[in-house]
Amino acid sequence: MTEDCIFCRIAAGEIPARIVYEDDSILAFHDVQPQAPIHVLIIPRRHIPTLLDATAADRDLMGSLQLRAVGLARELGLDKDGFRLVTNCLAGAGQSVFHIHLHLLGGRTLGWPPG
Ligand code: AMP
Repeated sequence: MTEDCIFCRIAAGEIPARIVYEDDSILAFHDVQPQAPIHVLIIPRRHIPTLLDATAADRDLMGSLQLRAVGLARELGLDKDGFRLVTNCLAGAGQSVFHIHLHLLGGRTLGWPPG
């Protein structure tokens, strides 16, 4: 756990969140500033700052995050009209919380290219 990381603190139960899934290695919760009718964040409990910090040792975890996101998309009814999984990497790409997370976005038509 990294004390100054808001997602580590959510994972530790120190900061409340609207949790939709949790297990030993993964947590998923609603984004506080949703960009779509459904906007859920899927995070590893372990602190990994950015995609650039993931290594081959994280292969299973990274796969589990993606598969969990797809499972949540199904549970939240996004498997008919579609959804988007996004990970922003570094500030220039819009990353504001430096603890890896997948954004699961859906419930409206999503434009492309992203801003
Ligand atoms: P990013 O900008 O890609 O790093 O995404 C970080 C996301 O975390 C943003 O969409 C924020 O709205 C969201 N966020 C920040 N603080 C919280 C929090 N306490 N609970 C839920 N979501 C949060």
